[in-house]
Amino acid sequence: MKFEIITLFPEMFSAIKNEGIVARAIKKSIISISEWQLRDFSSNKYKNIDDKPYGGGGGMVMQVKPIRDCIVKIKEQTPETKVIYLSPQGQALNQSLVEKLSSFDSLTLLCGRYEGVDERIIENDIDYEVSIGDYVISGGELAAMVLIDSVSRRLPNVLGNEDSLKDSFTDNLLDHPHYTRPETIDGQSVPSVLLSGNQAKIDAWRHEQSNKKTKQKRPDLLIK
Ligand code: SAM
Repeated sequence: MKFEIITLFPEMFSAIKNEGIVARAIKKSIISISEWQLRDFSSNKYKNIDDKPYGGGGGMVMQVKPIRDCIVKIKEQTPETKVIYLSPQGQALNQSLVEKLSSFDSLTLLCGRYEGVDERIIENDIDYEVSIGDYVISGGELAAMVLIDSVSRRLPNVLGNEDSLKDSFTDNLLDHPHYTRPETIDGQSVPSVLLSGNQAKIDAWRHEQSNKKTKQKRPDLLIK
């Protein structure tokens, strides 16, 4: 999977490129992350890519031309790429959208800043508009990193442990509780079934716990 990032702050991506699961996926050549500095597509000597909004009001708006030119350039190399604008107005990033996005070979992630992008980009140049939640952050970079991490985890051979593919939201259930050593701490003990060595019983208990937790914390998932 290729991730092409359109951004004013390419350095931010070192946070995931150098550490953890995403870094490991890059090392194994399962994914690649390439940043495109939007200012390189500016047509003026100050490298501006934003301008004042028509109709007045505060804040600046990212212009059509540099973004469109950048997307054209990316598509010359990767015509099949799907272009995603990270936006608080987009469809919510949930596990089923993550699954869908992980089936593509290339994703281009457009990171907004300021008041966001000129609406004509959204009308004409974007395949998906994706939100990481009903709140506003200052730029699309953090949202893009959330998307890259969640999609990368779903790609074959990224996670060493098969059980991690049974994380929360698989089959619309939350994950079961996890325990590790010691068996007892401050009077709190590990449920005895987990020490029984009976795998069938353990699996049944975990499934029951998943259902219980989902009913308690996220009953909305069970209605889907
Ligand atoms: N004026 C925009 C609005 O109210 O809809 C918010 C612009 S926000 C300050 C700047 C950029 O941050 C957006 O263009 C988008 O790329 C990103 N962003 C902010 N909140 C986001 C969210 N919840 N999900 C994804 N991206 C977000």
